Amino acid sequence: MKTIGLLGGMSWESTQTYYRAINEGVRQQLGGLHSAKIVLYSVDFAEIETLQMQGDWDQAGRLLADAALAIQHAGADFLVICTNTMHKVAPAIADVIKLPILHIADATADELIAKGVKSVGLLGTRFTMEQAFYKDRLTAKGITVVVPGPADREIVNRIIYEELCLGNIQGNSRVQYLEIIQRLQQQGAEAVILGCTEISLLVQQSDTPIALFDTTAIHAQQAVRLALASG
Ligand code: GLU
Repeated sequence: MKTIGLLGGMSWESTQTYYRAINEGVRQQLGGLHSAKIVLYSVDFAEIETLQMQGDWDQAGRLLADAALAIQHAGADFLVICTNTMHKVAPAIADVIKLPILHIADATADELIAKGVKSVGLLGTRFTMEQAFYKDRLTAKGITVVVPGPADREIVNRIIYEELCLGNIQGNSRVQYLEIIQRLQQQGAEAVILGCTEISLLVQQSDTPIALFDTTAIHAQQAVRLALASG
């Protein structure tokens, strides 16, 4: 079994979902007392969020690259960055480590392609919904990406930072998300990406008939697959 490197804490509310999902995946595959080999480096999310707000992606990239180096030195075989947003600095991390990075957008695109989805709605932080670093990985694989309008993006983003990253799960926020998901469907989305690793704490497949692609679950499953693959 390979050792999975988790770069987490963004926020820790979702890192615990990764930790559980990866261990459950390994137990499901290997049975008994088997569990995942994991090196976890969990950052202080307040530092990351401050740099995001300042637009200082270079410093954020350096900070995460240092953390990734520590994960490498601790013996991980590959790296899982436990956030969609901070994949914006994945190239800066890749520049300084030797470990392969299991990119969350690629993992999600592969899953969408496997399920035959051609047009997909994207929910995430404003950085993920508005900037190119994430959407381009999907469109490069032939997937059309639909994002919510400006007012809805504001709601989605606010709920992530002011509620979900603090572990605050509100019924009225779930209703707002479900309305936005419905509007994405009306705009032509066949399915919706939960493109922020905390959204599945709020919205689940049982809440809506439209197919949801939960990036946390997909990323964790792919990490298990890679960890257990031979060679
Ligand atoms: N975990 C979130 C994501 O998947 C947002 C927190 C962050 O900004 O990293 O994008």
